[in-house]
Amino acid sequence: MTHRINAQPGILDITPYVGGEGKTHGANHVTKLSSNENPLGPSARAVEAYTALATNIATYPDGSHFALRTAIAEVHGLRADRIICGCGSDEILSLLCQAYAGPGTEIVHTQHGFAMYAIYAKVAGSTPVVVAEDTRRTDVDALLAAVTDRTRLVFVANPNNPTGTLIPDAEIERLADNLPPHVLLVMDGAYAEFVREPGYDGYAGLVGRRDNVVMTRTFSKVYGLGALRVGWAYGPDHVIDVLNRVRGPFNVTAAGLAAAEAAVRDTEWTEHCVIQNEVWREWLARQLARAGIDSDPSHGNFICARFPDVDTAKAADAALRQRGYIVRDVQGYDLPGCLRITIGDETATRAVADILTKFMAAR
Ligand SMILES: *Cc1c(COP(=O)(O)O)cnc(C)c1O
Repeated sequence: MTHRINAQPGILDITPYVGGEGKTHGANHVTKLSSNENPLGPSARAVEAYTALATNIATYPDGSHFALRTAIAEVHGLRADRIICGCGSDEILSLLCQAYAGPGTEIVHTQHGFAMYAIYAKVAGSTPVVVAEDTRRTDVDALLAAVTDRTRLVFVANPNNPTGTLIPDAEIERLADNLPPHVLLVMDGAYAEFVREPGYDGYAGLVGRRDNVVMTRTFSKVYGLGALRVGWAYGPDHVIDVLNRVRGPFNVTAAGLAAAEAAVRDTEWTEHCVIQNEVWREWLARQLARAGIDSDPSHGNFICARFPDVDTAKAADAALRQRGYIVRDVQGYDLPGCLRITIGDETATRAVADILTKFMAAR
């Protein structure tokens, strides 16, 4: 007879996260458009800061993340003492679940929300509660109706991934206003930098005015530093204090801190990337529409392309793959018949449009 330790309840119910694929068979040259990475790469200054670290890796990094928090605070006009940095924003989402949820509690997220919300909820022993969206848009009334005495966290990304949709700021404010005091609203701002709506601040202002909202941000998307794993959050003092007690003492590497600091200060490069993204995203959306592929207006660095049916989406995925373009099948996000296409550089975007236009014409 063998004796084996058991994982905590709920852990074996977790289906491991599957990231965007980066390899395909047959094509010589592969372009990865499956993980919303920046096709133009990071700021040259970030690469320089990262490289400079190579001769100094024997010492621990600054566990207080002081220089990075200061840079973020200066660039975004925030208070540095209300910022916490993490190993990707993923770590911060996980810490929030560990700190505020547990057995007997519930964590609410939207129907097409990021897969990690439910995973981190289960890791903490909490129960994820999925709330239906209104035709791929966050439905604030439905979220409020799902909140119970057991709810601790509500996760919302606005813009959301993989839909790309954005609901008005006033709706997010209404959500924050109407949540009971035992619930914390987590605004996942993984795509906040890409939003070009006037007045949009990724909810930093909302965080500043209230004590029940926290905003998470990442260096993996527009800043092009996915490999280094750096994210941050801005929250009320009491939340930052809690997260600082839960996190590891050196949860961000020295290389990550240095590169992220340089990246956030290089606002010119960020702006360039945001504008390029908008230009090619809008161009691709028009080409897709012309080819008979629908999509909602996207506010991120991707388009959620809706094909007439599941089989057509699968065949389109195969056609792209055969030519070396890997996009994301988002059936697992309750979006059957959809492919999420990261906006690549001009060459990649033109190629994707060309492949899909010919594919749809030949059906
Ligand atoms: C990419 C992404 C994240 C996590 O990014 P990190 O690399 O962990 O910082 C979080 N939320 C959403 C919606 C994302 O798309």
